[in-house]
Amino acid sequence: MATTTAPVQLESSVTEFLRIPRKMLIGGNWVEAVSGKTFESYDPSTGEVLARVAEGAGEDIDLAVKAARAAFEKGEWAKISPAQRGKLLWKLADLIDQHTEELAQLETLDNGKPIMTSRKGDIPAVSDMFRHYAGWTDKISGSTLPLSAPEPDKFFAYTRREPVGVVGQIIPWNYPLVMASWKLAPALASGCTVVLKPAEQTPLTALRLGELILEAGFPDGVVNIVPGFGETAGAALAAHPDVDKIAFTGSTEVGRLIAKAATANLKKVSLELGGKSPNVVFADADLERAIPGSAAAIFYNQGQSCTAGSRLFVQKSVFDRVIDGVAEQTKKFKLGPGIDPASNQGPVVSKEQLERVCGYLDSGRRDGAKAVVGGRKLDRPGYFVEPTVLVDVNPEMKVVREEIFGPVVTAIPFDSPDDVLSFANDTAYGLASAVWTRDISKAHQLAAKLKAGTVWINCYNVFDPVLPFGGYKQSGWGREMGFDAIELYTEVKSVCARI
Ligand code: ADP
Ligand code: MG
Repeated sequence: MATTTAPVQLESSVTEFLRIPRKMLIGGNWVEAVSGKTFESYDPSTGEVLARVAEGAGEDIDLAVKAARAAFEKGEWAKISPAQRGKLLWKLADLIDQHTEELAQLETLDNGKPIMTSRKGDIPAVSDMFRHYAGWTDKISGSTLPLSAPEPDKFFAYTRREPVGVVGQIIPWNYPLVMASWKLAPALASGCTVVLKPAEQTPLTALRLGELILEAGFPDGVVNIVPGFGETAGAALAAHPDVDKIAFTGSTEVGRLIAKAATANLKKVSLELGGKSPNVVFADADLERAIPGSAAAIFYNQGQSCTAGSRLFVQKSVFDRVIDGVAEQTKKFKLGPGIDPASNQGPVVSKEQLERVCGYLDSGRRDGAKAVVGGRKLDRPGYFVEPTVLVDVNPEMKVVREEIFGPVVTAIPFDSPDDVLSFANDTAYGLASAVWTRDISKAHQLAAKLKAGTVWINCYNVFDPVLPFGGYKQSGWGREMGFDAIELYTEVKSVCARI
């Protein structure tokens, strides 16, 4: 029997947050854009305006960079101890936990994802990330080095690991607060100051986080948050001559623009870009796990994950069984507004994204691909697309080669491990991959040969603050999480003394 549930009761703090235009955070103050302009953030489940937000552009970025520079060079932040930085990060994590429901509701309204995902997935991952880096602050050290110069005993040499300086961080819309935490936490643990630009589609949780950052007691100017569009605010941040490092997560296309913009002052760059990740299921896999695992690999977050398992390779003898199984899994999905607790699939983030995904579905159809399940957008308000499994595809098709960033998986049969390895690596991307098999030798042999920054074996989309994350090939530069991210936000200085 069909059941209906009421949407989640919005917290009064959420209603209040959405009621008035949100300002930007510069130098510890909430300010309007210099231009006085605002832009709209939409609820993707209805297509209606959710909130208005100050529209930052070049001049606001400039003010934010000045505030970050002042905080880095001479403020209180420059003087506090590593342990104190750790306490601030931990305090922030506690505040996030105290506001889980509020942040989850804001994230769901702004991005569209199911409320359970925000509550149990995204927001707890954010506080976990801040706690992980709270533990790093007093463990960022150099070493002493024995020289081989003449009279080596006359030298004392050591390295220092110092914060890189003022950091620009450009955030995507698929996991808005999670991605902000991946960038902010290691930068702050390292002692940097930050200008953060959230995605124009989803600026709200970053702005609420800004309030919690002030409440936690971070000094003014340490974190500045400037919402705005990519081509204006984002581009200004990437090109800014007084920014020492830029960290970006988003499309490969924009990643290239960021890298170019960074060349003027040769700021350090880290990029976490697109993917077209292979998910390989062997006949000897535990299919009871591999089938739901492969469905989740692509459909989690409406397919809007850079790691989405969007190319499913299945060994021939079990191809039909696995494809039918994955298609069957989609029947358990209930598409609906994320804020309705009965929905376990939400809309995609925007009209633009809906059109992009539908464009790929059309292109697949024209090229002769067949949808075993799904294939259309829903005829209702909001940006809903059916979870789709495409078969009869070949490696030349756009749907197989390009990142769709929506709930669409292409499925291809294979014979042998060698065959599948060449298929899997036949991509410009190299972010993630997965292998499902009971044969541990085969699993680890393939893990060594897959050209991807992450290989999951008999699981998918398992993230942990200790697992370095990033891409081979055109999926990016650098690794985030764990100590690898501390390396992104620090410079190593060699000090060599004749004594
Ligand atoms: P998508 O195309 O899926 O929206 P983008 O890569 O365009 O993904 O967006 C990711 C982030 O990059 C957003 O914060 C966006 O505002 C920003 N951005 C987009 N274009 C530029 C640009 N030219 N320079 C700097 N940032 C940009
Ligand atoms: Mg929005």
